[in-house]
Parts: sequence; C-alpha cells; structure tokens
Amino acid sequence: MNMSRRKFVGGAAAGLLGVNVLPAAEDGQSKPNMTPGEMPLIISTWPFGKAANDEALKVLLAGGSRLDAVEQGIWITETDDQGQHSVGLGGRPNAAGVVQLDSCIMDGPGHRAGSVAALEGIRHPISAARRVMEKTKHVMLVGEGARLFALEEGLESVEVDSHQLYEKWQKQRLKPSPARAENHDTIALLVLAADGNIAGGCSTSGLAGKLPGRVGDSPIIGSGLYVDNEVGAAGATGVGENVMRYCGSFLIVELMRQGLSPTEACQEAIRRIARMDPKGLDLSINFIALDKHGRCGAAGTDKNFQYAVATRSRSGVLENPGLGKAGSGK
Ligand code: ASP
Repeated sequence: MNMSRRKFVGGAAAGLLGVNVLPAAEDGQSKPNMTPGEMPLIISTWPFGKAANDEALKVLLAGGSRLDAVEQGIWITETDDQGQHSVGLGGRPNAAGVVQLDSCIMDGPGHRAGSVAALEGIRHPISAARRVMEKTKHVMLVGEGARLFALEEGLESVEVDSHQLYEKWQKQRLKPSPARAENHDTIALLVLAADGNIAGGCSTSGLAGKLPGRVGDSPIIGSGLYVDNEVGAAGATGVGENVMRYCGSFLIVELMRQGLSPTEACQEAIRRIARMDPKGLDLSINFIALDKHGRCGAAGTDKNFQYAVATRSRSGVLENPGLGKAGSGK
C-alpha cells in the first residue's frame, strides 16, 4: 500500500492520541523505517483494535513489557461486550449456544508460545494463553483442561447463560446487517517494542454457530499468529478454515524474510492462497503484519478491511481496499 492509496478512517474522533495523521510506518514500499523516537509500533485487526492498541501503548510507555502490552491491550477487546464483535465472552455462541474461546500469544525472544482453544467461561483467554506459555512446558491446552488450568491459575471465571446468549444471537442475525461483521471477528495484535523485540496475541470466539469443539486459526501458531524475532510478525482474521490450511501467518513472515515488505507479504500470501484454493479470492481472509524494521501493513480479501495502527505519537484506523470481493468466504 502506498501513501496515496491509504484511506484514513478514524483517529482524532475515536482516539486517545488524537493525531489525525497516518503512522509513517504504515507502508510497504516507499516510506522509510520508523525513527527510534516513533517506536513502539502496534498494529491490530479491525477498528475495535484501536482501543486495544491505545491500551498496549499506554502499558509500554509506562514501562511495561511487550507481553503485558499484548495481554492488556487484548483485555480491552475481550471485555468490551458492547463492541458487537466476536471476541471474549460477549462473542458469538456455537451451534449448541455455548461461547467457546480461542486465543494465543507469542513472544519473539526465546520463540515462546502459548495457546488455548475451545475455552469456556474464562473472562480473558489471552491471559490463559500467556500462563500456558509461561507456566507450563506445553504450548496448547484445549477445552475442559484449558478451563481447569485457567481456574487453577486464578483467572476470572464467569457464569455464562448460554441459552440467553443463543437467543440474543438468533435475534441479531435476523437483522439486515453485513454477514461478515455479524458472524465473526478476531483481535490479532502485534507489538514491535522500542528495544526491537516483537510479541503478538490473538483472541476470538470464532465463527458464530460453529460446531461445538471447532477450533479455528486464531489459537494455532503459524495460522492466526506468528512471531519471528529476526523478521517480524503476522496475524489473521476471517474464516479460519481458509487461513489454517495454508499456515497464513507463518507464510507471511517467511515472505518478509525473503525481503517483501509487510504489505507486499500479506498481498503475496493471499494471492498464493487464492491460486491454490478452489474458492479463489472468495475466502474472507485478512492479514496484518509488521517487520523488524518498523514497517507495517495489511491486506485482505474483504473489501475495505480495516485495521488499527499506533505509534508513540499517533493512533488511528486504516482501511485496505482488499484484493477480493466483499464475499463472506463461507
Ligand atoms: N478467524 C476466526 C475463526 O475462524 C474468526 C474471525 O477472525 O473472524 O475462528
């Protein structure tokens, strides 16, 4: 994406930092790397990512760690029940009327990762993922095991009236609104800290009406999220089945390793997937990425995929024209 094609969607009006200017780092080709004074760099999926970015930035500027920034940024989206997105316990129930959450976290130094899937009744799945990474010798816990681990770790649990949620969701889906926004969303949030180290996290309730036990791309390392401290990081949102069959985030990081900018890498990954996939570009997959040099970018098959970027002095929502049609990909 170059400067002239970028479309600024929100900043000052929605914003903490109130600077109605695009971050200089948001570019693949023409912009220079970020100056040290502009660091850190944070990018996340969807407009609701802006509040998460702003929180992550606050954590970093107050001296917090990159992992605290990722975790506490994502907390904002996980607790925002008014957001009409499918992150956290206010997200979309599965076909049995139960909200099952997927999340993962990854830290560049040490190449560490933690993940939880099909987790029920825990307020902050991102925290459960972080505890898996930091406190166990495993990478991924699922279902009841993940829930018991989270409870043992003292994470907040919430009694969920899943029947009521299901009824609410059924009513909502009768309303005429875009299928995409109604059915699924994920926060993937990537941080390039001022010291050059990278971390990322991802959290979602997945596709609305999914089969009980279905796990999407979001908690799968290399699919919904991937961090390589030598190169950069990528995260995904969209129809998980169309991301996880191609290890989407890993692919993007590898393309950046070969010299592509974040924007170019996201675009090339989508083109490559579309060449292989019988659905072509009708996949509903969207990616964000940042690299070690302080550049970030995005691409998606959804028309006008929106994502949020923050640096030390600027924060806003950007829009990507999209490589495909507005299709749902389902
Ligand atoms: N990728 C998520 C999933 O398939 C949903 C989304 O991002 O919209 O579970």
